Amino acid sequence: MRTVHVSLGNRSYDIKIAPGLIDRFGRECVRLNLGKRCAIITDTNVGRRYAKTVFNSLATAGFTPSLIVVQPGETAKSLKTVESCYDQLALHRLERKSFIVALGGGVVGDLAGFVAATYLRGVAFVQVPTTLLAQVDSSVGGKVGVNLKAGKNLVGAFYQPRLVLCDLNALKTLPEREFRAGLAEVIKYGIIYDANMFARLEHNLPKILKRDPKLLAAVVARCCEIKAEVVGRDETDDGQRAILNFGHTVGHAIENISGYEKYLHGEAIAIGQVAAAKLSHAVLGLPERDVERIDNLFRNTGLPVQIELNASKRQKLLNAMRLDKKVSDGEIKFVLAKRIGHVAWGQCVPENQIQQALDS
Ligand code: ADP
Ligand code: ZN
Repeated sequence: MRTVHVSLGNRSYDIKIAPGLIDRFGRECVRLNLGKRCAIITDTNVGRRYAKTVFNSLATAGFTPSLIVVQPGETAKSLKTVESCYDQLALHRLERKSFIVALGGGVVGDLAGFVAATYLRGVAFVQVPTTLLAQVDSSVGGKVGVNLKAGKNLVGAFYQPRLVLCDLNALKTLPEREFRAGLAEVIKYGIIYDANMFARLEHNLPKILKRDPKLLAAVVARCCEIKAEVVGRDETDDGQRAILNFGHTVGHAIENISGYEKYLHGEAIAIGQVAAAKLSHAVLGLPERDVERIDNLFRNTGLPVQIELNASKRQKLLNAMRLDKKVSDGEIKFVLAKRIGHVAWGQCVPENQIQQALDS
């Protein structure tokens, strides 16, 4: 088993990474010294496959679990679902020492984390991320929250889990498209922080696409380590943490103008990262060869690297970028790479250069 320690003072916690963790979930929770009562929040897809195992494992370890199942997909990240979760927690009489288990992808993690952060002014939560994206991204950093009609993630909190268990076996049932989309975040860590990992990804891609557990363990652990390091230096998101947003300025705008339907998050940021690589070449002199390697790695992963835009769509995309909540004072700022493994944030880029990067 690999363990990544997320060091945040008295809110520090461990991320454990191994195949089969779900089977011994209860035992892992015993060490945390929490109350007996707990609630598993999951969605129907994940619940159908894994809820029973988690439930029984908790019961065998002496806990009294209850199960809350929400609909799959982004629509579950709503205040309406939050309220329904609160009602069920009250019904099951969860108390201050009780805890919540988030069993599912990023959606369930954000929702259950927000419920945990706010129910009774905060109860403990344990995360069992079951998508690659959630294992390498949303399980580290403590951002929890839900969407409003006015936009995504507009209501939320920073709230750290007490433990994160990444079961690599759970990734076996993940739909192919979701798995590949998760790899977009993995590749991102290589570009922003770790040239060696980027090279290993290039080299081992066929095995990774076959979901080789050994390789996945190493990859997931390294990504969590990188995110933990970055977040540890900048927990509340005003400086260095910005580097995690590589490819996301364009990516978020693509998701936005396509109504969050056409592209998965990972697909949108794959296009965004390739655009950011081209901008990096124009603005910071990222070598052409590196732009090519980045473009190829996303392509070989089966991810989109370009978006066809007519003039009006392109204008919409630029407008959406200006509205991104990371924009300050109307300037669109980018995270750009100087070379693979090293990026600079807060780079202002003129609009015509952005257009060129999207077109080329
Ligand atoms: P993300 O983690 O990418 O933010 P979601 O939480 O929306 O995304 O999960 C993506 C989809 O995959 C959802 O439909 C969810 O129910 C499903 N899912 C999550 N984990 C698994 C898994 N291990 N096996 C099968 N389906 C899963
Ligand atoms: Zn992302």
